Amino acid sequence: MSFASLGLSAEIVRAVTERGYTEPTPIQAQAIPVILKGGDLMGGAQTGTGKTAGFTLPLLQRLADKQIIGKGHIRALVLTPTRELAAQVEESVRMYGKHLPLKSMMMFGGVNINPQIKQLHGRVDILVATPGRLLDHLQQKTVDLSHVEILVLDEADRMLDMGFIRDIKRVIAVLPKKRQNLLFSATFSDEIKLLADGLLTNPALIEVARRNQTAELIEQRVYPVDRERKRDLLTHLITENNWFQVLVFTRIPAMAIHGNKSQAARTRALAEFKTAKLQVLVATDIAARGIDISELPHVVNYELPNVAEDYVHRIGRTGRAGSSGEASSLVCVDEKKLLNDIERLIKRDIPVVNVPGFDVDPRIKAEPILNGSNRGQGGGGRGQGQGRSQSAPRAGGAGRTGGAPRTGGGKPAGAPKPAGAGRGPVPSGAQHRSGGRGR
Ligand code: AMP
Repeated sequence: MSFASLGLSAEIVRAVTERGYTEPTPIQAQAIPVILKGGDLMGGAQTGTGKTAGFTLPLLQRLADKQIIGKGHIRALVLTPTRELAAQVEESVRMYGKHLPLKSMMMFGGVNINPQIKQLHGRVDILVATPGRLLDHLQQKTVDLSHVEILVLDEADRMLDMGFIRDIKRVIAVLPKKRQNLLFSATFSDEIKLLADGLLTNPALIEVARRNQTAELIEQRVYPVDRERKRDLLTHLITENNWFQVLVFTRIPAMAIHGNKSQAARTRALAEFKTAKLQVLVATDIAARGIDISELPHVVNYELPNVAEDYVHRIGRTGRAGSSGEASSLVCVDEKKLLNDIERLIKRDIPVVNVPGFDVDPRIKAEPILNGSNRGQGGGGRGQGQGRSQSAPRAGGAGRTGGAPRTGGGKPAGAPKPAGAGRGPVPSGAQHRSGGRGR
């Protein structure tokens, strides 16, 4: 399938080809025709699926088809939860629309409002904004949204998580009643459904496979460690394995990008990270949301997230677009329950690697090493590699081959899941890591 066959114009197909895309991703193949026809859409997709181009390309085309000469008005509004995502979406709009005479603008808080006011005096066809700052402009009457034809809520679930629902409703209240609405969300909670019910008219529902079902390219592993030694272990892993471009998630805003940093500092940190000048970037879930770094090789969970679904979002930063990645979680004894929740959600055990010298709190490996026959229904596919409690070089064949899904029928519901030793095969990538230093 080609972009042209989806009904996109020559100018847009040219921009996409120049970007290097040869064929549409599944969400693009499904969403583009629906949006081109003018219908509402509810899209279940998260970052990494190509959803941005999925709504941007047809949006640009619809606006270009009905060209309005003159100063113009804001005709499309895209709301995003974070500044980073706003910047990325607006960059995509500019890139895909580079052969079209349309102007876009990004708008977010944390920066001086005056340049934004000035920019709004000029031509803006497409506005990409975070809800809070947009509301400021509305209150100051520095933005006119009375000609908006298309509204996009990107990562709507995150916007709700971040408490933007009232802001969003206030924005929607000033938009023309007749318009096209597109809502994208990685999850469909009752709250999202309620929002969608009030917003969308006969929407097409498009859902692409969640990453937790398609993430075979991501090597996931758990490193048991004492709480106090996480920092040391992280340093050890990064230096010993020579990891580059490591995105570290913590629950506590620690270093690089988080909401309280100035926008300039955040943008700089991200740019340096992307060009691999900065080796490690530490981020909270919210700050990291929507960061688009393709082929990011390493994601580290310094702490497991409280909400299991966030694990999926986090590891979705790696192993994108056909490239492989590694997701490592430093897990201490307090986090056993969180690990269980995650494994239940992703329907697989995450292989455990014990690093010599990082003795684990005995409680985390308290459970006996089980042999294959004790592993219940799941034992068949996971019987090899038992008893690996050290990361000594492993015999060939103990590793998981070819990244095949390892669910193996799954464990019996409620079966104990040792977070320590003996849980299954070692990921193939871990073999050369532990044994490979001498290579
Ligand atoms: P998104 O889900 O919109 O954040 O996009 C994820 C990544 O996929 C971005 O780096 C895009 O540049 C890339 N991408 C989007 N569409 C395609 C495509 N059709 N072919 C290859 N890569 C794509």
